[in-house]
Amino acid sequence: MSRIDVFDFHFHFLGQESLEEIARLLDSGAVSGMLCCTDLGASHEEFEARNEPLLALAAERGKEVLPLLAMVHLNRPDWPRHAARWFDRYDALVGVKLHPPISKYTLTPELVDPLFDFLGERGLFAASHTVPLPGLSAAAFHPSLKRRPKTRLVIYHGSTHEESAYLAASFANVVVEPSWLGFFPGLFQLMAKLGGYGKLLAGTDGPGWFRDFQGSPYEDLVGLARRHLPDEDTARDFCGRNARRFLRFGD
Ligand SMILES: [Zn+2]
Repeated sequence: MSRIDVFDFHFHFLGQESLEEIARLLDSGAVSGMLCCTDLGASHEEFEARNEPLLALAAERGKEVLPLLAMVHLNRPDWPRHAARWFDRYDALVGVKLHPPISKYTLTPELVDPLFDFLGERGLFAASHTVPLPGLSAAAFHPSLKRRPKTRLVIYHGSTHEESAYLAASFANVVVEPSWLGFFPGLFQLMAKLGGYGKLLAGTDGPGWFRDFQGSPYEDLVGLARRHLPDEDTARDFCGRNARRFLRFGD
């Protein structure tokens, strides 16, 4: 079987050690690109000091390392000012990462609508952590998506599976990233029934999981993709080509 190219759509920058890991993984050819969340724990005051190494690597590597602005806390009224400042300063930032449980809020249209407007105005997208709880799962985005149906949104962890598949089928620019250790057959089956695998993207949520794993996470990811998908072509789409389409690399 020929090699499958992997674009990791869910990766985390956790400081210097992970930076070296990102460079090593790219140089080894295990992965050809990464969408990488900036340090989730850094406040706006610490943003540059903590994330400068990742932003420098992103500027150097071009489309191989695409950082997301992490600490957009929608429950704090000053988020648009901070976010605008970093997007104005760093061209390499491609979107916003939401993590409502860490930011301590639940998703409501009052919080999400202004974010979707901000993303639309700047040609950006959002990737959100989801968990199967009210206000924290994929369905919480539905009211805002209905009003702004072209919004580009990545549902990390695909929670819940039904809600994620439904949103991906209903809105042109919503995609689902189930995360390496959470590949459940039901999600793949639902996506297939609701319009195919074109809206599913592969990510690892690494490198936190990598340490406890024996072997190559990317070889494992490709093996799982081959098991969950009907043929080599759809596995190739899932592992990399769908990501590149979402990122509009062809444009
Ligand atoms: Zn994550």
